[in-house]
Amino acid sequence: MTLKRCSMRAMSYCNSTAAVPPLADVAAANTTQTTVLPAPAELPEDVLERARIYALDLGVALPEPDLVHVLTLPIDRIREALDLAQEVREKWCGREVELEGIVSLKTGGCPEDCHFCAQSGLFESPVRSAWIDIPAVVESAKHTAKTGAAEFCLVAAVRGPDKKLMSQLKAAVEAIRAEVDIHIACSLGMLTDEQADELAAMGIHRYNHNLETARSYFPNVVTSHSWEVRRQTLERVRDRGIKLCCGGIIGLGESIEQRAEFATQLAELGPTEVPINFLNPRPGTPFENHPLVSMEDALRTITAFRFALPKATIRFAGGREITLGEEGMRDGLTGGINGFIAGNYLTTLGCSAESDLDMLSELHIPIREKKDVP
Ligand code: SF4
Repeated sequence: MTLKRCSMRAMSYCNSTAAVPPLADVAAANTTQTTVLPAPAELPEDVLERARIYALDLGVALPEPDLVHVLTLPIDRIREALDLAQEVREKWCGREVELEGIVSLKTGGCPEDCHFCAQSGLFESPVRSAWIDIPAVVESAKHTAKTGAAEFCLVAAVRGPDKKLMSQLKAAVEAIRAEVDIHIACSLGMLTDEQADELAAMGIHRYNHNLETARSYFPNVVTSHSWEVRRQTLERVRDRGIKLCCGGIIGLGESIEQRAEFATQLAELGPTEVPINFLNPRPGTPFENHPLVSMEDALRTITAFRFALPKATIRFAGGREITLGEEGMRDGLTGGINGFIAGNYLTTLGCSAESDLDMLSELHIPIREKKDVP
């Protein structure tokens, strides 16, 4: 696992999300039948053997205390964990990787104070408020579809959408549908019941709203709204049959225990897709001097999230290039990751779609077609 750096730097995009049932309920929801968990006394001592039983054999979340052990595995066991994570993802999700493109309808000038985010209007970051027009959105959707991506996500840097944004979104969705065969997702912040109804009526396939970090750490990251408010939006979306995309950012200063807590809270929520960002500290934000997550910790995190969410699409998002380098990204794609954002992120450049596609080809990993996307 030697670290090579990608020539282009990346950064995280706006994320947000919601909550979960106890483990037994999660197991039932994930398997469509009641799963009988082994009695604690029958479980092996080794954490990866336990992960094999929970995540691989049963398809349910590895319990939080075990996730802490995965997140602190010695370096010489990381490859073993990645191999098991890959077995888990291939058993429950298949060999394919899901690609997604994103475009920003409205960039910058957000009134919220997420301390990692260059799009907050409250910090001295160089990102300025801007809107994109509908023809440019359609061109971006076309370009995304050409990469083989099955989903295109329309994103806006807002607390929640107003009438203007909802009407822009509706126009963009109609224009894309007229020309491009692709699932349409969106990420517009916190929603009211009525707005969630509107998105359902538009046929939005998936809604992204990241919980960002563990509930216990969230007040250290955002003070202008609560974790619970984010979760409410997720519940509103789920209640209307829209699939959930919910993840967060690793490296915000959270402890290892809080990373395990976060993975468990996501498992309780049960999103179909979980974007994992690694903090790429942005100039002018309160977290601009935070250190990068080490490649080893990033790989441990990928395996822990796969063991917590055996059946979800776990997607590489912002920061993968600077944190993992090319070698680490290959380890992730052969160690539990089964999705990524192709091309650039919202305020930073990613690796080019071409280099990502080359990497998939070299690893003999097929791209999931639109018809097979959950
Ligand atoms: S809510 Fe606003 S400040 Fe927070 S992550 Fe999203 S765009 Fe950035």
